Amino acid sequence: MFKHIKDMEYTVHVDRPDPRFAVLLLEQFGGPHGELKAALQYISHSLGCNDPKIRDLLQDIAAEEMSHLEMVGECIAMLIGPTDTISRDFPAMHLALVGGGPLLKDSGGAPWTAQYINSTGDLITDLSSNAAAELRAKLIYERLLQQTDDAGVKDMIRFLLSREESHNFSFMQAIETLAGSGVMKDFRDSDFSKKYMNLSTGQGDSRGPWNQGNEFQYETNPNQQYGGPAQYGKDPQPAGNREVTPGYNDHARNNPNYNQPKPPSPQTPQH
Ligand code: MN
Ligand code: MN
Repeated sequence: MFKHIKDMEYTVHVDRPDPRFAVLLLEQFGGPHGELKAALQYISHSLGCNDPKIRDLLQDIAAEEMSHLEMVGECIAMLIGPTDTISRDFPAMHLALVGGGPLLKDSGGAPWTAQYINSTGDLITDLSSNAAAELRAKLIYERLLQQTDDAGVKDMIRFLLSREESHNFSFMQAIETLAGSGVMKDFRDSDFSKKYMNLSTGQGDSRGPWNQGNEFQYETNPNQQYGGPAQYGKDPQPAGNREVTPGYNDHARNNPNYNQPKPPSPQTPQH
């Protein structure tokens, strides 16, 4: 159930209209890393999530992202100001023509699309996507901060930027609690799961935790070892017992039989 409360998460103040910055701020209203994308992506994930704790996390943050959409939209409307004062050479006349409210478009005028939503049904994959989405949102707010001198707008952006940092941290921590589950349950029992192919050769070949330690094997000249006819994939049998075959069933990812936890039983009235 959704219920709207007229109090805003943060009360928006704008010093003066600034249609130019209103257009830039549209990026976070109807853009690919914006607030609507975040809200709808997390809601989508929560509806397929059978882990009650992660479901709660996703729903808490999704609801907050709707609150951010509201704040950003209010701010855009204030920044556009009275439409009859917008200059005729203003670069985004569509904002003047629709009467001053924000449009679900990005700062370049491209309409919002559901293709911005990434959803797989695997919790670790989806939470990783969410953590990255929060970083992208933070980055855009940092860049927007450079484009305005309005103290009120800057303060709102700093608030939003801090909230996206907090969300990123929560998603990263949630991923830690799921280590070894879902898509990360195991590596495919194949040599190739932990092999690093040095395929860009020459000066600058570098080593780091991405290609050494953790049982990683470093193939210095993979072309010498693996060139020629394909050697991989000849075995028709599954490489591991979690490989997707007919009859594969993974309830850890998306359980349609998820039941909402029962609420605590009501207290007996006191007489
Ligand atoms: Mn947000
Ligand atoms: Mn966020």
